[in-house]
Amino acid sequence: MALMPINGGKRVRIRSIVLLVAGLLFGFVAPVQARVSVFACEPEWGALALLIGGDEVDIYVAATGKQDPHLIQARPSLIAQARRADLLFCTGAELEVGWLPVVMRQAANPNIQPGTLGYLEAAAAVQLREIPNRLDRADGDVHAAGNPHIQTDPRTFLPVAEQLTERLMRLDPSHAEYYQARYGQFVVQWQAALDRWQGQAAPLRGLPVAVHHNTWIYLFDWLGLRMVVTLEPKPGVPPSSGYLSEVLAKVKATPVRMTLRAAYEDERPAKWLEQHAGVPVIELPATVGGNQRAQDLFALFDDTVERLLKGAGAGDGAR
Ligand SMILES: [Zn+2]
Repeated sequence: MALMPINGGKRVRIRSIVLLVAGLLFGFVAPVQARVSVFACEPEWGALALLIGGDEVDIYVAATGKQDPHLIQARPSLIAQARRADLLFCTGAELEVGWLPVVMRQAANPNIQPGTLGYLEAAAAVQLREIPNRLDRADGDVHAAGNPHIQTDPRTFLPVAEQLTERLMRLDPSHAEYYQARYGQFVVQWQAALDRWQGQAAPLRGLPVAVHHNTWIYLFDWLGLRMVVTLEPKPGVPPSSGYLSEVLAKVKATPVRMTLRAAYEDERPAKWLEQHAGVPVIELPATVGGNQRAQDLFALFDDTVERLLKGAGAGDGAR
């Protein structure tokens, strides 16, 4: 009989712990878990997830706007975030081929595997450009599945937002109306912004430009700029001095108004061309956070269009 209170006491303690854990789960852990946990590979998709998901999503972005999305490290923090994610939202088209497969394997999260509701590739919503006739990663070509830099054309965000909204509604049906309403709002605001940007950018049509990396092909499709030459002989391959001589000859034959580069790209080849051919270098934010002003999707393209116009006017003093 003397042992009973001790046993009873132990049971009480265990029961208290069980109740405490249950309280944590249903008390203040549950509301947090009820939000959809989004793992975005690139900042532009994190920004879009915030616009559509609002208060009902927790967003983790794997890369900053100052990082080359081809070259992210599969850090333990990324793996931990992928493990708890409900939705993986990335560009796809092999942009993340150097790091995401490692993160996915280590995270071993069945909810975000390809083919599941929790796996969303933005590239699947648009027509990819520059798809090679055969897959070839020889010589370091990092665009072996086509050009993955789809976010440089703002029109891309409309079909991607539609896909994202559909996924959020299915993953979190209790907030389906909320997501749909925010999507509707986004489409109206984005369409108005597209009209504005296209009006502002009209003088850019047909303008010949050089680029460092082939990041801007979708932007050029949108605004009608003409890419004369890339300073990389193949995507991801730094130029040799021999190749730069070829670039110089090309630019002398077909003058360009500016060289475009993202902040995270090597600045030396563009500077070299500036010194040898007087071509000004314009640094564009390739994504949200790419510079101080481009802190959301609207500001990203406000800033991009403004910088392009400035670059276009640099040669004739128009701006
Ligand atoms: Zn690239």
